Parts: sequence; C-alpha cells; structure tokens
Amino acid sequence: MTKYNRVYNFSAGPSMLPLPVLEKVKEDLLNYQGSGQSVMEMSHRSDAFKKIIKEAEEDLRELMSIPDNYKVLFVQGGGTLQFSMIPFNLLRNSKKADYALTGTWAKKAYKEACKFGDIKVLASSEEDTFTWVPKFGKEDVRPDADYVYITTNNTIYGTAYNYVPETGDVPLVADMSSNILSEPVDVSKFGIIWAGAQKNVGPAGVTIVIIREDLLGFAGAEVPTYLDYKIHADNDSMYNTPPCFAIYVAGEVFKHIKETGGLEAMQKRNREKAAKLYDYIDSSDLYKSPVAKEDRSMMNVVFVTGDAALDKKFVAEAKEAGLVNLSGHRSIGGMRASIYNAMPMEGIDTLIKFMKKFESENK
Ligand SMILES: *Cc1c(COP(=O)(O)O)cnc(C)c1O
Repeated sequence: MTKYNRVYNFSAGPSMLPLPVLEKVKEDLLNYQGSGQSVMEMSHRSDAFKKIIKEAEEDLRELMSIPDNYKVLFVQGGGTLQFSMIPFNLLRNSKKADYALTGTWAKKAYKEACKFGDIKVLASSEEDTFTWVPKFGKEDVRPDADYVYITTNNTIYGTAYNYVPETGDVPLVADMSSNILSEPVDVSKFGIIWAGAQKNVGPAGVTIVIIREDLLGFAGAEVPTYLDYKIHADNDSMYNTPPCFAIYVAGEVFKHIKETGGLEAMQKRNREKAAKLYDYIDSSDLYKSPVAKEDRSMMNVVFVTGDAALDKKFVAEAKEAGLVNLSGHRSIGGMRASIYNAMPMEGIDTLIKFMKKFESENK
C-alpha cells in the first residue's frame, strides 16, 4: 500500500508532484510560515509573496545555471498562449520564422505563427506519424529568419531531441513544457526556453519563460500589453496579479530538486527509470514501442500491443491495480506512461510487474 493510499499517476499533465512537496504545502496551507494566512489569500505585493517569487526565480536560475543575460518570467495563459506570444515578440525583422514539426504541439505552434508571418516548415516527421525526430542544422535554416522553433520533448508521441540543433545567429526557441528540469541544459544555446508548469514543474496556471535580454522590446504597438514579454520583464512578473499559488508550489518543487541533488542527479534517475521500462518493452512479446530508438523520450513512454481492444483492456485493468492514466493520447491511442521527475522508481517497478502479469494472462 502506498502512503495516503495514493495511486501511481502516469498522466501526461497535470501530473504527479513530489510527495514531500505536497506534504510541505499541506503543512503551510492554513498558516504560511507564521503569516496567519495561506499563500492563496495573500497579497501578491506582500513581503511574504515577494520573497516566494524571488526565491523561486533564484532557485530556478541556480538549478538550470541560467546566465545573467536571461530574464526569467512567470506568466499565465498556459503553453498555448506562448504559441502567439512568441511570434508577437520575435517576428521583429524579416517576419520569417522556421519551425520543426515533431508533433501535435509543434504543429499548433506553427499554425498559430502562420497567422502573423512568413513561416516555413524546416523539418517534419509527420508522414511517419511523428515517430522520430528530424535532424537539421544551420544549413537548413533561412539565414534571415527571426527565429527557429522546436519542441524538445513531444509529449503525445513520446519522442525527444537528443541534441540541440545548431542555428547559427538565428535565435532558437524551445518548447520544453514536458521535459524542463528533467536533465541539465545549456541555456546559452537558446533565445527562449519556455514551459507550461503542469507537466514537470508544478500545478497548471503558470508558464515559465526564460528569455535572452536582447530579444526583449520588439513587440509591435498593436500587440496586447499582456503579450509583450518586456512588460513582464520590466515588472518582475508582477505587472498584474501573477498565479501566486502555482508559483509558490513550483518554488517548493525547485527547492526539492535542489535538495535531492539538482539536475544531474535528476537526469541519472530519469535515465534509469526510462531504460528499465524501455528494456522491458523491447524484451516483451506483447508490447512494442513505435518510436525510433535514438529519439525516445525519457518522460513519455508510448507503447502498444497492436490490438486496440487489448490496449483498452490493459488500461482498464491497470487502473484497477492503482496505475492510472495509462491510455495514449486520444489522437493516437495505445498506451503512454508519463514518467516525469516525480514518478518514483517504485512506480516503474509496479508498472512492469503489472505488464508482465497482463502479458502472461493475454498470450
Ligand atoms: C501540454 C503541452 C502544451 C500545451 O500546454 P497548455 O498549458 O495546455 O496550453 C504545449 N507544448 C507541450 C510540449 C505540451 O506538452
């Protein structure tokens, strides 16, 4: 039996949070550190909240080794609002941008950007239902493009970039919604890194934007105020009321990651978890991974039996066994185990044990 009788939650997002963080939040809930109130009830202009947001930023900077010439912003609107904020702010000269299509989210970002500029598909694996990640380099990028856009981890298809594409002087923008903080990254290789919190960071409601300072200040006069990154940068993410509680919980997650060894240790644990699951899938006669080996995601493990009815049975029986949210995205079916930072190794072991039992019963 797990503590508090909690399930192993393989949801793609919102997803599991580290138990020690939830316990800390519970402890703080009614009276945050002697303030006599919860963070939900507190003025965002109070000293207590200012400390929370400042520490969240400092801890994130430390964890990701974010260079000083980058701003860290906490904004709202989910991942989806970034699909328009990015072209609004970055289509600043030629109004051209090059997008790599590696899945549903990349495609949505591309379609949104097409409303605002001359947008080119730089590379795509759509003809193979996004089961691999197309390679590209500097020579594939239009030299006068305002930016290049990639999705580092494709949440729905279970693929990931295992390298940072070279784009020369053209800034690289990366949607890291589903793999931020899963491993160290060299922030200096990117113009913008952004991530919705609800996959690997905290509760839904806050989106992290890490932006190189020279990319601020290009939103046109017609751009809505809230959508101008510079407004958020100039006001330390407090232009208006920020998503206070979500920022507070994300901040507790950052502290927890620091206390458990930072991103190097996180990467090691994530590699072990993913390798164990993929190795079992590859060795089994029943389950198959549709994803090219070198492009497999550490965060979202997609697998199928090849029989849609059997997949359905798997998901239903797994749920009975306390392993929930294992169905694949509604667009592709099959199964998907999202094993973000907060999924413990016991969750992987319990899943594999269940998969073995199911395999033996369904030969
Ligand atoms: C979930 C997700 C999004 C969209 O996030 P919302 O907050 O639901 O708008 C965008 N990109 C990736 C990679 C995602 O996983």
